[in-house]
Amino acid sequence: MASLTLDRVTKIFGDEGNDIIAVDDLSIDTENGEFIVLVGPSGCGKSTTLRMIAGLESITEGEIRIDETVVNDQQPQNRNMAMVFQSYALYPHMTVRENMRFGLEESTDLSDEEINQQVEETATMMGIEELLDRKPSELSGGQQQRVALGRAIVRDPQIFLLDEPLANLDAKLRAQMRTELQRLHDELGVTTVYVTHDQTEAMTMSDRVAILNDGALQQVATPLEAYHRPANQFVAGFIGEPTMNFFEMEVQGSRLTGDTFTYPLSEEVKGSIGDVTHVILGIRPEDIDLISEVEEEHDFETTVDVVEPKGNENNVYLTFDESGEGGKTLVAVVDGLQSVEAGQPTVARIPQTAIHIFDANTGQALH
Ligand code: ATP
Repeated sequence: MASLTLDRVTKIFGDEGNDIIAVDDLSIDTENGEFIVLVGPSGCGKSTTLRMIAGLESITEGEIRIDETVVNDQQPQNRNMAMVFQSYALYPHMTVRENMRFGLEESTDLSDEEINQQVEETATMMGIEELLDRKPSELSGGQQQRVALGRAIVRDPQIFLLDEPLANLDAKLRAQMRTELQRLHDELGVTTVYVTHDQTEAMTMSDRVAILNDGALQQVATPLEAYHRPANQFVAGFIGEPTMNFFEMEVQGSRLTGDTFTYPLSEEVKGSIGDVTHVILGIRPEDIDLISEVEEEHDFETTVDVVEPKGNENNVYLTFDESGEGGKTLVAVVDGLQSVEAGQPTVARIPQTAIHIFDANTGQALH
């Protein structure tokens, strides 16, 4: 086990004048045994970061340290890390056993018998002991995935690097492997850096999640912190499904005024807003209640536009425009048993305890 530090790491690709800043001044500290997920949209620099940690990509600026040792110039094979790729990258001409033995033969001076024993123990742990004499082409996608993980685990690395390892599996198998990976992590306690663009994976698997956009770190936090206290509008919009509702508003005295409605502010929220005048009001769909009548000043008359049933819950798309056409919409998530129909007038309650406020110019969270 080891701790891993990224200290102001930057990666610039390309020639002068034509530079792509793939990773921009990124600092992350992971603790011994932590499971950290790097998440963000396509092209945000996740894979490049992982490849720099693995030593597969050079670092333009900054330092990567394992415990206290700077590894910038260490060869990948000397870093004692194991990486699992989305493509699995198994050697097609080798059996599962040979694939698993390969890394061990390269990196240790264990005897033949000891290597065999470790391969078999790991294969049992991964439930692939029956597959040891097959070639990768004779395995399903899920089985290949297990072999790729087994090949990484058998080397007993200090750090695991996983790059979208579940992306090629179907939804059911993906869910199953998510739990299995968590179980393995609990059992092995190895520091793990896991890259995904899937926020469900990030939220359900990680101790902490590092959210990236355009090569820059937006927030590093526990999944709950990122959900409840997003550092900026990007994180607020990235975490949560359906996406948080956003309304551009002006601060006028103790109210927010927008195109379609005005929203009264408590003293506390006003205090957090300070001198900023142009803000974004954010409200998560699951924090909106649909009720039958306006009872207080945080209740707004709306019309149901579309209902998207999901079984236990419904996504309800609402419009402030009573004609139901062209008005500003918002989405609410309500209990599946609550009866809601398209075209029906309803009242949306936006509780002030659940609102988020962002500076419209910088995107930074104010409240
Ligand atoms: P995805 O989820 O699509 O894999 P990502 O977040 O992993 O995306 P990266 O693959 O790290 O993103 O890419 C970050 C940026 O760096 C992108 O703009 C990409 O086009 C660029 N990039 C990556 N590799 C190279 C390269 N070898 N040469 C030039 N640009 C590159």
